[in-house]
Amino acid sequence: MPGFELFGEEERKEVNDVMQTGILMRYGFDGPRKGIWKSKELEAAICQRTGSKYAQLVSSGTAALTTAFAALGIGVDDEVIMPSFTFVASFEAVMSVGAIPVLVDVDETLTMNPEAVKKAITPKTKCVMPVHMCGSMADLDALQNICKEHNLILLEDACQSFGATYKGKHLGSIGDAGTFSFDFVKTVTCAEGGAVITNKESVYINSDGYSDHGHDHLGVDRGADLHPFVGYNFRISELHAAVGLAQIRKLDQFLAIQRKNHQQLKNILSQVPEISFRSIPDPAGDSCTFLSWFLPTEALAKAVVNEMKSQNILAGNFYWFDNNWHYIRKWDHLKNATFLNNISEAQKQGLQAIKNSSYTASDLVIGRCFSTAISLSWTEEQVKEKGEKMLNAVRKVLSKQGVTA
Ligand SMILES: *Cc1c(COP(=O)(O)O)cnc(C)c1O
Repeated sequence: MPGFELFGEEERKEVNDVMQTGILMRYGFDGPRKGIWKSKELEAAICQRTGSKYAQLVSSGTAALTTAFAALGIGVDDEVIMPSFTFVASFEAVMSVGAIPVLVDVDETLTMNPEAVKKAITPKTKCVMPVHMCGSMADLDALQNICKEHNLILLEDACQSFGATYKGKHLGSIGDAGTFSFDFVKTVTCAEGGAVITNKESVYINSDGYSDHGHDHLGVDRGADLHPFVGYNFRISELHAAVGLAQIRKLDQFLAIQRKNHQQLKNILSQVPEISFRSIPDPAGDSCTFLSWFLPTEALAKAVVNEMKSQNILAGNFYWFDNNWHYIRKWDHLKNATFLNNISEAQKQGLQAIKNSSYTASDLVIGRCFSTAISLSWTEEQVKEKGEKMLNAVRKVLSKQGVTA
C-alpha cells in the first residue's frame, strides 16, 4: 500500500482516453463520448474481482458508507453497532443519515469482538458494521450468525481492505452490502473515490439513484430520467474512474508484493518472543497492507514509540492508541457531540452514552498495538534494514525494562 507508489504509463493512458473526448462526466453524452465509459468499466471490474453482482462507484469511501446506509433503509433513530477502532468516516456516515453509532470493543483481530456485539444489541439495533481494518478481516462467520439470529443488516466497511478475502470470498461481498475507498492512501487509489457492492438488486438500484440526485437512469437521456426518491450528488468523475481502472488491473501485483514484504518483516520481528501478532480469522485472505503486532504491555509499547522516535524510525509504524483519526480515545469531537448543525435528541443521547463508556478491553489491545505499513516499493534489502532497526529498538527497550536479559 498505497497504489500510488506504482503509478505509471497505464494510469496516464486511461486518463488520456477520457481527455481525448473531453467527457469527464460518467453519465450521458452518449454520442460525444465515443464509447468511453470508464466508470462502467471499473464497476464491471469490481464485480468481477469481488464476485459481487452489483457495484456502484461514488466519490469517496465516506460517500459509499452514507449511500449504503440510505440504500439499506437505515436512518433516524436506528442504532448501528460499530467498532471503537476504525477511521472517523465510519461514524460520520452513521451520523449523516440520522442514525446512532453504538461503539463496541475490538479484540486482537483489531476488529469488533462478536461477544461485545451481542451485548450491545437493543430493540433499536438495525445494523452491524464491522470494519475490516488494516487490510485484514473481522470474524465474519460469528457476525453473520448474530445478524441472522437477530434479523439485523450486516454492512461491511471494507474501505481499507480491497483485495482481501474471507474463506475465499472477497471482503464486502459477504454482508448485505460492503464499501470500498479508493482515496489517495488506499491499496487501489484514484485520488478520491469509493464503491458500494451488493448482491441485492434493490440495494444496488437505491445506491445508483441515491448517489445521483435520485435519477433512475432509465430515461433516453438525463433530462428524461424520473426521480423515484430524493438523492444527493456523490458521483465519481470519469478521470478518477480512469485511474482506478488502471490500478485495479495491478491489484494482483500489489498483493503479491505486499505478501512477500509482509512475510519477510514478520520473520524478522518473530525473533523476539515478546512480540505477538494480530490474530487473523483467515490468514490466507489477509491483503497484507499492514503488519500489525503487539508488545506485552502498554508501557512497553509507549517506550518503544519513544525509542523509535529518538532513532527516527517511527514513520510508517502506526501507534493507534495516540492517533486522532482511528481510535475512540481521541474522538473528543464525537464524544462532545460537536456538530455544526443540530443533531437529533436520540443521537445526542447515543453520543453521551459513548462518552460515559469505558473501552477497557479495546485499550488493552490498542494500547499494545503497532501497525507497520507495508510499502510496494521496498527492496528486500530495505525490508531487512527496516526490520532490523525495529528489532533493535524493541530489544533495547525490553532489556532496559528488565523484560529480557
Ligand atoms: C478510508 C476509509 C474510509 C473513507 O474513505 P474516504 O474515501 O477517505 O472517504 C472509511 N472507512 C475506513 C475504515 C477507511 O479507512
